[in-house]
Amino acid sequence: MEQADRPTGAGGRLAGDPIRLSEGLDAAVAALRAGDLVILPTETVYGLAADAGRAEAVARIFEAKGRPRFNPLIAHVADTGAAEAIAVFDDAARALAAAFWPGPLTIVAPVRPGDRVCDLARAGLDSVAVRVPGHPVARALLQAFGGPVVAPSANRSGRPSPTTFADAMEETGSSAAAALDGGPCDVGVESTVVSVLDGRVTLLRPGAVTRDQIEALVGPLAESDHGHRSPGRLTLHYAPDAPVRIDAETAGEGEILLGFGPGSGDPRWNLSPSGDPREAAAKLFRLLREADREHPVGIAVAPVPMAGLGEAINDRLRRAAGFVG
Ligand code: AMP
Ligand code: MG
Repeated sequence: MEQADRPTGAGGRLAGDPIRLSEGLDAAVAALRAGDLVILPTETVYGLAADAGRAEAVARIFEAKGRPRFNPLIAHVADTGAAEAIAVFDDAARALAAAFWPGPLTIVAPVRPGDRVCDLARAGLDSVAVRVPGHPVARALLQAFGGPVVAPSANRSGRPSPTTFADAMEETGSSAAAALDGGPCDVGVESTVVSVLDGRVTLLRPGAVTRDQIEALVGPLAESDHGHRSPGRLTLHYAPDAPVRIDAETAGEGEILLGFGPGSGDPRWNLSPSGDPREAAAKLFRLLREADREHPVGIAVAPVPMAGLGEAINDRLRRAAGFVG
């Protein structure tokens, strides 16, 4: 790649130049506001960051990582007040936040209605994962940006998480419009993830904050039941109530057809009239939910080509259609 079109450390400067963090932050904030991606250091690993409120920007993350699935992402915020603006915390969640934030603990809690985190970032769920990172560069960016930022690890899918600026740049730097160099990551493994839902605290992913540290604060943890799909229990993906039928050309009696591409069904229900997988990814969970709310006999979905984000879209649809557990 030419030096000139390579994203540079601290936004706009080539490696080796003196870096003033304020300039880098301005470039990174501008990139987030424009719906572009930013390489972001955190104390756990380097993240590939986007405005959590912009589904098309979030779709770009999945595209850049080459992720074959839409996992729910962590919304990073500047402080506990900003976290409670997007998530509903009970006493246990507040105690965890007070003890471990800023730091490598992610709390999954019910999403506050009308919050700024888009459906795609939450994989359509009613819960949202939030974290206040401790890294000074991450905190400075979140303060300057003033809204939630999703930032999964900056590696390409299936590769190890980057813990240095150089590794992050090598993995997904070419997809980012700005990049912040925060030095090597202190923690080096992903954050601990706990859910605090229906009065129960559950460990979803072990990490730097240990089970013992959490249990000392909130008592014994509930057994993780993720993967199960019984109603009211924690699920990692939104599943519509209506049966989903994939690779459908037309709607059957009482079905809603989610179209793809020009002239595919009712434009209101088209995932992307122009046939753009990024737009389809951005609208997927919202349209599934909206269709479900109409209580149709079923939701039929037009074929979506496998190229690019098509693989992740098809994975999600196959799960919704019950072909994968
Ligand atoms: P990453 O951003 O790749 O470090 O990973 C995010 C982690 O948080 C994954 O393990 C997700 O499954 C988990 N996660 C994010 N949002 C939710 C949610 N709403 N419910 C359950 N788990 C979540
Ligand atoms: Mg990762």
